[in-house]
Amino acid sequence: MKTALTSLEQQMRRYAKRFLKTEYGSPAIEKMKTIEIKAIDAYDFGGLSEATEKDITIAAKRDVNAGKLTGTTKLILRHEIGHVLDEGSPMFPEFEEELLHEEIAWQKAKLRNGAENWYKNLSVRTHVDPLKMQALGFPRPELKIKPERLRCGTKAEVERMGKSSVFVDTYLAERFAMVNLIENPDYYCKNS
Ligand SMILES: [Zn+2]
Repeated sequence: MKTALTSLEQQMRRYAKRFLKTEYGSPAIEKMKTIEIKAIDAYDFGGLSEATEKDITIAAKRDVNAGKLTGTTKLILRHEIGHVLDEGSPMFPEFEEELLHEEIAWQKAKLRNGAENWYKNLSVRTHVDPLKMQALGFPRPELKIKPERLRCGTKAEVERMGKSSVFVDTYLAERFAMVNLIENPDYYCKNS
């Protein structure tokens, strides 16, 4: 296990260096030299991967299982590098600030295609485990779910959200429904 993680850390460092070289040049490469990259044997349950002044921690269980650095992890790594490159990021941000700096980190991650943007939007809105999002079949998870079940699930999520808040986001409700339906097609409505 330890060797697998060490090997992933090396691959991440190489990937980070290539990314910084192409997108940002030497000052950024210099800055990253002082930041340690750590791979841990866990799934990312809502924000386990993180960047601090000293290091970047990446939840890399999906890569251990895959035996290689996956595309999802590369994207997360670029996002965390985005936090490191974000000079204005405060140590203890207010909630609003935190959202702003999440956006900045995503901008600095230089998203390359529709799939990566889809991932970003979903991750910002729901903080759902990236592995689940992969299972959702992004960029078109809805293709994996029967439309009538998705309608039923979305309706249930809208009702659930309406109970605790006056702000109901139908788009978000649909995404929650997708996550639950991927794991269990009967989650909301049986025999539909
Ligand atoms: Zn972030």
